[in-house]
Amino acid sequence: MPPIPYNEALDRVRRSFPGHEVTVCDGDHGQESGVVEAPDGTTVASFRLTIREPRAAPPIVNKVRIGGVGQYCGTSDEIRAWTQAHSDPLYLDYNATTPLDPRVLEVMLPWFLTPSNAGSRTHSYGQKSKEAVENARRQVADMLGAQPEEVFFTSGATESNNLAILGLAEHGERTGRKHIISTAIEHKAVLEPLERMTQLGFAVDLAPVTSGGYVEPATIQRLLRPDTLLVSVMHANNETGILQPVEEIATLLRGSDTLFHTDAAQTFGKEVEALKRLKADMVSVSSHKIYGPQGIGALLVRRRGSQKRPVQPLQFGGGQERGLRPGTVPVALAVGLGEATRLAALEWPTRRTAALRLREQLLRDLARVDHHINGDPARCQPHVLNVSFPGLDSEAFMMSTKNLIAVSNGSACTSASYKPSHVLTAMGLDDGRIDSAIRISFGPDAKLRLVRFRSALNIILALNPLVASE
Ligand code: PLP
Repeated sequence: MPPIPYNEALDRVRRSFPGHEVTVCDGDHGQESGVVEAPDGTTVASFRLTIREPRAAPPIVNKVRIGGVGQYCGTSDEIRAWTQAHSDPLYLDYNATTPLDPRVLEVMLPWFLTPSNAGSRTHSYGQKSKEAVENARRQVADMLGAQPEEVFFTSGATESNNLAILGLAEHGERTGRKHIISTAIEHKAVLEPLERMTQLGFAVDLAPVTSGGYVEPATIQRLLRPDTLLVSVMHANNETGILQPVEEIATLLRGSDTLFHTDAAQTFGKEVEALKRLKADMVSVSSHKIYGPQGIGALLVRRRGSQKRPVQPLQFGGGQERGLRPGTVPVALAVGLGEATRLAALEWPTRRTAALRLREQLLRDLARVDHHINGDPARCQPHVLNVSFPGLDSEAFMMSTKNLIAVSNGSACTSASYKPSHVLTAMGLDDGRIDSAIRISFGPDAKLRLVRFRSALNIILALNPLVASE
């Protein structure tokens, strides 16, 4: 690198990290060191300026070394390319899982380090654990507008869905109600238990959806039969973010013996007011979609007057969770879910505003390329965009950009082996649109993401001339 004035060297570093804070500290032996900080205060790189003539005015820099994953010296453009290739990919797959909120981790940590079994009633460790678990139960119940005794902790939404569906088999047999209605776009954690119910002799109707990605309440109404045991419709689809008309469906079923279950893995802590209003009989909840720990969730089973609870346990053991879900409750995880829920209850309006802002920005950036949004935008959660780029092979695209951007083209659980999305297929989209679809889902740290997303999109455009319309 030919010698350049000191200020220009610093400028090059700044231009390599747009939106970042660059600080220089004094060094010796003709070297100065510095750090590059993201807007959230995390250090993303350190650098060193080698000054050839330290005492001359103005000083001349003949080497800029940026350290992160490794070391690199070069011009601003080279440094930018190197940094982008080496830094962690930008995570835009929040519907698969969210990072744990450090504030949640902080309240969980003491429970990992203390003997904690909420079932031990003979000593204070057990009593304190029980208090903590009951506090978490109250936090989850409050979010759903329910009573704490209606909340049962599980390992996550998959288990909650299994319990809600398979747990009704006995009740269905006893009452002669052996018909179930669901939709073609449910998560596999609903579709597979339904398949099992079919093997057990239940009739299952999967309602079709519109090209906008939602089921019409009238379709559910048409499928209803006198022996319908259960209607199970997800609150928001995990691949498209499209909200389903669950309130209208609940209204349809009001006063009947048919139970209503909704898989709210993607809306708990996000669609707060709608979930509180919705008086579904059963609601499945997951913790790791709202910055809580993985491995915990809950099933809400609402009481219907003095009627006996229709759901039966699928496992048997120590009688925990009032016998519905036996096994030692993981106290640290329950406390984590409770705290993540409490924070979501406080912060959901600001998280939503940040997501809407980012979405607008994203849509403005996407306007530069030929694309189609999948699903009715008027019904979409603000933090999700399912978008197809004509001519793009989404699998190849994700492989070629995996060091840069973490997105998906289906649910995390099914994306290990590529099969065309059953959700987009049910929406009647053609093969080209399905094969070129990418799901982008993001979190509330919009400021940082805005800066990084723009550079990611630029690279995507550069890497994929097929999608660039310019
Ligand atoms: N249901 C839906 C709609 C989901 O999006 C997910 C997770 O991707 C699940 C269920 C499974 O949730 P968990 O990972 O908590 O078992």
